[in-house]
Amino acid sequence: NSLPDAAGQILDSIELQFKLDDVVLTRITTQFLQEIAKGLAEYGQAMAIIPTFITAVPSGKEKGTFLALDLGGTNLRVCEVKLNGDHTFSLRQQKYKVSDKLKTGEATALFDYLADSVDAFLTSTEASDAPEGEDLPLGLTFSFPVEQTALDSGHLLTWTKGFAARNAVGHDIVKLLQDAFNRKHLHVKCVALVNDTVGTLLSQSYTAGGSLLGAIFGTGTNGAYIEDLSKLTKLKDETLKSSGGKMIVNAEWGAFNNSRSTLPTTPFDNILDRMSINPRFQAFEKFVSGMYLGEITRNILLALIDAAPKPLLFNGRVGSGVLNKHYGLDTAVMSNVEVAWAGEKPKAEPTEDVYGVADKLAALHLGDFDVAKLSESQRQRLERVKKVILHDLGFEQNPEDVSLKDAAIVRWACTLVAERAAKLSGCAVAAILVHTGCASLGTDEGIKRKEYVNANGKISVGVDGSLIQFYPNFETQLRDSLGRLIGKKVEQAVEIGLAKDGSGVGAALGALIATKAS
Ligand code: ADP
Repeated sequence: NSLPDAAGQILDSIELQFKLDDVVLTRITTQFLQEIAKGLAEYGQAMAIIPTFITAVPSGKEKGTFLALDLGGTNLRVCEVKLNGDHTFSLRQQKYKVSDKLKTGEATALFDYLADSVDAFLTSTEASDAPEGEDLPLGLTFSFPVEQTALDSGHLLTWTKGFAARNAVGHDIVKLLQDAFNRKHLHVKCVALVNDTVGTLLSQSYTAGGSLLGAIFGTGTNGAYIEDLSKLTKLKDETLKSSGGKMIVNAEWGAFNNSRSTLPTTPFDNILDRMSINPRFQAFEKFVSGMYLGEITRNILLALIDAAPKPLLFNGRVGSGVLNKHYGLDTAVMSNVEVAWAGEKPKAEPTEDVYGVADKLAALHLGDFDVAKLSESQRQRLERVKKVILHDLGFEQNPEDVSLKDAAIVRWACTLVAERAAKLSGCAVAAILVHTGCASLGTDEGIKRKEYVNANGKISVGVDGSLIQFYPNFETQLRDSLGRLIGKKVEQAVEIGLAKDGSGVGAALGALIATKAS
């Protein structure tokens, strides 16, 4: 679509920077495979491929009641999980906010808060009491890079996702938590430490009767998968390596491309990275996850507001402040824009393109945008998007600064950023399928490794996180990218299941594995 004027050229050039064609997607996946190989061979690599010491996945027959604590991003959750032994569970939970002060203060204050939250949960709910003289076993889902040395021990490698508490990096997370429980004389024992991705994999395996990969698309992004121990060459334990068995590993794929060799990076990504608390780290995560997509979009919108010689958006104004604030544009607002455009609530797991690609493309002709040429349906869609902008981007006092063309541009920006994220997520999933021998890159041979096929004839992937759960078309775009990379046959054989409450159930399963082992 040739856009006639300078404005059109600016929009065109931005669009071009965000588009990923099949060649680029394949190159990225190839690089992903190389970084996995590095992480398996040596400690200290960007993609850390962390052993979890969990050597089997649940079948769904597991039974018991466990406490679970989940710290990983936006919310802290305490829950009691009852595994019924028939692929089902029941769960009682409380959410607590983690303030920025706690995230960036002393680690002891943060862990005291965790212990207080468990205490409050036990006091306020009728959680099951431990038998006299015994401690309640608790599984901790801790969604940061931890180098594990056992199921109940691991040192924090680095904080991510806006956390920076002092005196935690290098320390044993289980010990920090247990010390806090002990300071408060709580009869709770942390028996298992699992990453949220590992929790998602365990939980999906429990409900679906097997799973190859657990992946998070929420505040951050990461994945855990089942690895052949023979490929985990960095492990010192020769007996384990030659056992012929498997182990769940936490890939820490958010750090993919920290070397900045592969991902096509735009100026909008560079600003985000430079202004972040961890420049040059978590490179992949910054392209993909909920914490960052809103900020990339904000950077695009600001560039258009500030465009010379003429502003291209909102008459060159920023409204009442959302757009002027670092991280002021939440990814949920992008979701709201998409939902407004679609005119219906997104399905929990969209399997088809319910939003009308044709209509979407029509709205993308922004260079010669003419209100008079809009169809009635397009006009209605844009009116709805405009309402979201007025409310969510702080233009309620200045509605005259938001035209229907502005609404189209905002939606276009959201689509560029979110589609790129979903396509890249497809590269990550494809890389795991190829690496584990289930698929091959660039051919359409169907599933190659049958042992991961479950009773439904599918390879099960568990996912969790607001982005994949709520962002319209995220899964559709992820699947599109997957199909391009490893063929439609394998893509169709992949079952993507929302591991609801996955980190809680996963932590409970981790606690169960720990108590069985001891
Ligand atoms: P966490 O990963 O911290 O456990 P979530 O999975 O809820 O929690 O992810 C929170 C992230 O998801 C935030 O970055 C937020 O911006 C984003 N988010 C929240 N609601 C939505 C939504 N409706 N659509 C897309 N992203 C959302």
